[in-house]
Formats: sequence, structure tokens, C-alpha cells
Amino acid sequence: MPAKPVVILGLFNADAVYRAARQPKLGETVMGQDFRLEPGGKGSNQAVAAARASGGPAVHFITRLGRDDFARLARGVWQNAGVIPEVTEDAQSHTGSAFIFIEAATGNNAIIVAPGAGGRIGPEDLDARADLIRGAAVFVTQLEQPLAAARRGLEIARAGGVTTILNPAPAAALDDDLLALCDYITPNESEAELLTGLPVSSLPEAEAAADALLARGVGAVVVTLGANGVLFRDRHRSLHVPVVRVGEVVETTGAGDAFNGGFALALAEGRSVDEALRFGNATAGLSVTGPGAASAMPARAEIDRLLA
Ligand code: ATP
Repeated sequence: MPAKPVVILGLFNADAVYRAARQPKLGETVMGQDFRLEPGGKGSNQAVAAARASGGPAVHFITRLGRDDFARLARGVWQNAGVIPEVTEDAQSHTGSAFIFIEAATGNNAIIVAPGAGGRIGPEDLDARADLIRGAAVFVTQLEQPLAAARRGLEIARAGGVTTILNPAPAAALDDDLLALCDYITPNESEAELLTGLPVSSLPEAEAAADALLARGVGAVVVTLGANGVLFRDRHRSLHVPVVRVGEVVETTGAGDAFNGGFALALAEGRSVDEALRFGNATAGLSVTGPGAASAMPARAEIDRLLA
């Protein structure tokens, strides 16, 4: 019997990244130093990470796109990675995109996001794919699309006995009903701070924040700690999994997405939580050694070599 799939809900964004000496003032034009068009969106990045890492389970990605060139870009990225698109085409809007200005000297950025069709994902998009979600091993979502859609996806998955993962990014306040639908929640340090109101800059602080989330109904908490790896905590135990050093860090954009994609995929393959945490860490650790986010997601063979 084929392995049950991973189903991921979220956004695709075409990120137009401009590097220039400084930002233009209103009414002014400045010449840039370079430009790149990057596929982004946390959900799409996570789906690419999971599909590249997969040794079996199919990876489906639920989203909305416009009917435009950026939609073709999205489909090409997913095809290359082996992601199966579950797309609602939205003729009323455009594919999500972001303008990202990077100040050359400092690396600081200023961003305009136009979510377009992705901002119009609604519960009906999930209802239309209820059978797919119920038949999954793992369902994953984040908070870039409207919350009502995330909630419906988690509800369908929970009712079907599917393992649920919420990556609470970008950070937002969440009610206890929603948290209770999550088998795993995977905040980074600043998201854990915002969710709990507690400081999170050390392992004991991450444990205290995790306890606060457990008390609100989540099944287990995985706090991603950047170069310090991850802290797992459920009602029985804590486990700190340090990163595996793989090489020089080139770019950490999308590291959280790589972790979530790898972790979800490993759970879908039937690995234990401890193994899935190591697999997610390895996926993310490899992703930071290359430029870009989706383009830096490692292939299965690289992950297996690292974990061997
Ligand atoms: P981003 O927003 O950049 O995608 P994030 O803030 O969501 O990242 P982090 O906690 O910074 O997530 O990193 C996620 C995971 O990526 C970490 O738990 C770790 O596994 C891996 N990672 C991040 N930074 C490094 C690093 N410098 N070296 C090795 N692994 C790293």
C-alpha cells in the first residue's frame, strides 16, 4: 500500500528582491545593484522541502493562485520538486508577490507583501479537499493565509485522526480552541514569545513557554532555536536536539520552513518523534548552506548522508 501523503496548506509568493544603496524617497528613482525573483511563501517552501526530502509519501500543497506569470513560476517550482498542486485558480485576483528592498551596506530590508489570491483562501478551499486531508498521514499549515482556512484544515484533519502541525508564522495571537487542534506547534523563539507573553532566549525559557502552550491544549511543542537546533517538549519530557554542523552558513531564510517540511515528512514516513526532529534539523541545517529558500531545500540523498 502506498504511504499516506503529507498535505500542506499555505501561500505561494513570488519574491522580487532588489538590492540597492538606499531606498528611494517618494517621487524618486534609484538604480539598483542587483535583482532576483525568488519563489517564496512559507507553505510553498515547506511543501518543496518535504517533497525534496521524501523517500515515499506524496506531498500535496493547497493554495490559491491568480492566472498570471507568477502562477506559472509557482507550478514550475513545484513540478521540479515533486509537489502535487491542489490549486484554486482565482480569476478575481493575482498570484501573491512581495517587493523586497535590501539595503546593500547593512542587509536590512523593507518589504511590501501583496498576498492577492492567497489572501482569499477560505474554508471552502479546505472543504473541497476534505477527502484528501482525511486520507493524509500529516497535515501542516502556517498563518500566512486567513486564519479561518487554517482552522478548517486543522478541524478536518483532527476529525480524520490525521497528525496536525501548526507552524505559527507570522506570529499572531491564537485562541485555545485552535491550539487544541494541534498535535504539534512549531514556533521560533520570537513566535513563542508572542504566543505566550514570556521571554524565550534560553533553553529553560523555551521550556517555560512550551509549558504555557501545553497548558492551553497543544499536544507537543517544538521551539526552533536557530543555530541551537530545536527544543521538543510534551507532557512527559523535554528533548533538546542540537543542529548537525554541515558547512558554512550562506543564508538562513527559509530555515524554519525546511525544518517544518522535513519534520512533517519524517512523521509521515512513520519515524519516531525523536528521529523526525533529527530529520527536520538535518533538512534545515543543509538548507542554510545554500542561497535562497526554496532553491536551497536539500534532496533526500543529502539528508540520508548526513544522518548516516
Ligand atoms: P527563518 O525565518 O529564517 O525561516 P526561523 O526563525 O523560522 O527561520 P530558526 O529557528 O531560525 O527558524 O531555524 C529553524 C531551524 O533551522 C533550526 O531549528 C535549525 O534546525 C536550522 N538552523 C537555523 N540556523 C542554523 C544554523 N546557523 N546552522 C545550522 N542549522 C540552522
